[in-house]
Amino acid sequence: MLLITCPWCGERDQTEFHCHGEAFIARPANALDMTDEEWGDYVFFRKNVKGIHYERWSHDHGCGRWFIAVRNTATDEFLGFYKPGEEIPAFELEGA
Ligand SMILES: [Zn+2]
Repeated sequence: MLLITCPWCGERDQTEFHCHGEAFIARPANALDMTDEEWGDYVFFRKNVKGIHYERWSHDHGCGRWFIAVRNTATDEFLGFYKPGEEIPAFELEGA
């Protein structure tokens, strides 16, 4: 069982949450000027890192709010949970 900490509700079972993928992906300001290939890259391609990953999550079966989680994808260890707008520290892997 994986436990996730909602910044508002506290620690809950993972089944209450939904992961929406990589965080901090800005919508292009010039979308109408983009080629189909550029648009496809924006819509479909993500970093898919092995290591520290900043993710958007929602507490669907709880308060319904969105937040940012920082997770090590290699170990599934969560390093922190943050409300939108909160300052998020830069994490680094030990030995990296
Ligand atoms: Zn919540």
